[in-house]
Amino acid sequence: MVELKTKASLDAMHEAGQVVARALTAVQKAAGVGVSLLELDEVARDVLREAGASSPFLGYLPSFAPTPFPAVLITSVNDAIVHGIPTAYRLRDGDLLSIDFGAELGGWVGDSALSFVVGRPRAEDLRLIETAERALAAGIEAAVVGNRIGDIAHAVGSVCRAAGYGIPQGFGGHGVGRRMHEDPEVPNEGRPGRGLPLRPGTVLAIEPMVIASGRDGHHAAPDGWTLRTDDGSRAAHVEHTVAITDAGPRILTAR
Ligand code: MG
Ligand code: MG
Repeated sequence: MVELKTKASLDAMHEAGQVVARALTAVQKAAGVGVSLLELDEVARDVLREAGASSPFLGYLPSFAPTPFPAVLITSVNDAIVHGIPTAYRLRDGDLLSIDFGAELGGWVGDSALSFVVGRPRAEDLRLIETAERALAAGIEAAVVGNRIGDIAHAVGSVCRAAGYGIPQGFGGHGVGRRMHEDPEVPNEGRPGRGLPLRPGTVLAIEPMVIASGRDGHHAAPDGWTLRTDDGSRAAHVEHTVAITDAGPRILTAR
């Protein structure tokens, strides 16, 4: 079942989405060389506390995970694609960091992610991140009434493949609303004109993931959560919570 949200619900979701946007901005600002991933989780917790919001990530226990997620922020470094648990690891010059964050406020959830380089960037990392951002923009552009889920998936996947990057299979976006993961699934690759028709009030988390080597292989790290590339190449991940409306896509987590 895909729940269609009213205008008032979308406004409430925007409030939750803006907590997410503020947290991501604060974490990015704090993420310098020598700063630990646990310290970044603290920055995100402070934003939640000030907003009176809670974390849909903390204690989350999906079927694939061995333990409840122990943090409010996801921190995926270099060859980690998504689901990285914050540790005492201190960021190094040139690390590619992907952060993913959710907030629940007033019964509604926002979900968003971004990738950036800490310290001096390598050109190939900037190209990887820029491609993920272009894929997200293409997916959002396709998130319009009259299109289908497959149009979003096709738009995202085409940008990633045209740049020569891999796409981890089995992971992608999702519906979002009162819960973090709702129907439908939003794959990062697919056929245009297929799948669920997009109607006003549908809200989706669109989240491209790209692997620099061009290969799709990935595996779970020993912690059971962190998803890493098989060949050790770097990955980027970006995400927005987007509402389909008669006036076009509305980015609820816009920064
Ligand atoms: Mg997310
Ligand atoms: Mg998500």
